[in-house]
Amino acid sequence: MSKVGIDLGGTNIKAGIVNEENEIIAKGQKKTFAQRSAEEIMKDMEKLVEELLEEHHISKEQVEKVGIGCPGTIDSKTGTVIYSNNIVWENIELGAIMENSLQLPVKVYNDADCAALGETVAGAAKDCNNMILLTLGTGVGGGIILDGKVFDGYYAGGAELGHTTLIAGGEPCTCGRKGCLEAYASATAIIRIAKKKMEQEKESLLHEYNEIDGVAIFEAAKNNDRAANEAIDEYVMYLAEGIVNFVNIFRPEKVLLGGGISHAGDRLIQPVNEYVKKYCFGGNRTYIPEVMQMKLGNDAGIIGAANL
Ligand SMILES: [Zn+2]
Repeated sequence: MSKVGIDLGGTNIKAGIVNEENEIIAKGQKKTFAQRSAEEIMKDMEKLVEELLEEHHISKEQVEKVGIGCPGTIDSKTGTVIYSNNIVWENIELGAIMENSLQLPVKVYNDADCAALGETVAGAAKDCNNMILLTLGTGVGGGIILDGKVFDGYYAGGAELGHTTLIAGGEPCTCGRKGCLEAYASATAIIRIAKKKMEQEKESLLHEYNEIDGVAIFEAAKNNDRAANEAIDEYVMYLAEGIVNFVNIFRPEKVLLGGGISHAGDRLIQPVNEYVKKYCFGGNRTYIPEVMQMKLGNDAGIIGAANL
């Protein structure tokens, strides 16, 4: 039997047919045009799935289920999008409407949860029953897999790992609180830290960049720039402190990092692992989870959704 996974984003609707080995055998996408009505977007999602199945000569009888990953707060029990600021939806019964139009069973979860599930069935955390995913982008997203299942708390209000306090009364966070992990471990945060460092360092290579972003910071660091290296060291400490907290709560088998900053490679992953090894509760007398980069990239969301 095949499964269908849909990754609904603010820019694109991506869909894939996934086989029993959890490989994507066909993929397609359409532009979301998020300013359109939810009805129009859902109609395009339906069309995309129908087209994919037809192109690959797969009948509906051969499809076991459909899963959708959607940004925002999702009531996974009913498949309702409670609120999504990316696509500006409020109380849309996405699951029920798609089930009716596709005549297939449909499940809906948050997109970060789908990515976490995708990595556990076919990616860097394959065969792990317990894992944590942190996405390091403009914000810090979180996904928790416990006993092989997505954990999102009551009424999907949990798993907001980015909005746990790292430093009480610290930097302002997008959520209205101060000192959240997101305010210290997001891409936005490393840029803020690097800008502060380069101000004190007139010779820094960072002054040569028109725009300071994660790529610029890690590139300058590679060229032995002191300000960039100090910024990364500080960032690593914040991120790793956050990870140690989650390890102490969940003791997952693996911690995966996704999002823009996760592409930094060894300069990030290595010191984070050293820090976690040194500070997680029980030290080397206990199991220390490895921190790794996500493996499936954008496909994680599709494969995860197909496995809901
Ligand atoms: Zn916050």
